Amino acid sequence: MECKVLKKEKDVIVFSIDKTNPAMVNTIRRYAMNYVPTLAIEEVEFTENNSALFDEMLAHRLGLIPLKTDLKSYKEIANCKCKNKGCAQCKLVLTLKAKGPCTVYSGDMVSKDPKCKPAFDKIPIVKLLKDQEVKMNLTAVLGTGGEHAKFSPCLMYYWGFPSLKTTKDSNTSEVVVKSNGMIVKKGSDLEIKDVVVWNEALEEMCEKNNVEVLHSDEKFICTLESWGQLELKEILTEAIKVFDTKLEEFVKLVKKLK
Ligand SMILES: [Zn+2]
Repeated sequence: MECKVLKKEKDVIVFSIDKTNPAMVNTIRRYAMNYVPTLAIEEVEFTENNSALFDEMLAHRLGLIPLKTDLKSYKEIANCKCKNKGCAQCKLVLTLKAKGPCTVYSGDMVSKDPKCKPAFDKIPIVKLLKDQEVKMNLTAVLGTGGEHAKFSPCLMYYWGFPSLKTTKDSNTSEVVVKSNGMIVKKGSDLEIKDVVVWNEALEEMCEKNNVEVLHSDEKFICTLESWGQLELKEILTEAIKVFDTKLEEFVKLVKKLK
């Protein structure tokens, strides 16, 4: 495999993987999205809620708020020493109290662990009018995207590296003009200037002008966008770690075979 970072921002990374196949890239994608654990609110205990939203709706909204996750300090309940009872190593406790008139934001949640708090402060939860009030205790646990989407740390997608194929029917000058500098002429062929920003609109425009767009099945462009619970590097390292652990289990099985 040959990997190369094409673009990196705080929460998004675009990279290419060469000399591989769709199954391998899809495995990385699935492990990153579905097997890397993060913290999310699992239980809400209401002591007061006379807002316009029912308890269930508020609990659902709270569950979807990304929480900064410290994977070194927390364990999944099933693997914790407390044996499903719940302790400081497998449960994070937060509180939320607010009195109207105001908008309650994710930043109003107070976490017992300063390292694990909402990743963004300005996610609106509910609007309160005068005399309306909410008071609740929240419990967050570690889980994976495979169990529930609220635990998923990221979105990852990929597509085969695009290239353009021209024939004598291709309207190449039209393609160059309409692409706004994204596609340039290289001899009699066309070349994509920046594959990172390649999109379906450009692809459609090429096809309308009889330029065929080919997608490699050996080289891929992957985009990974974090939802804020974990750093991009952590998501990928953790995904590979979980994949390795599963392979080890398989190796053990193979060793037992005679
Ligand atoms: Zn525990």
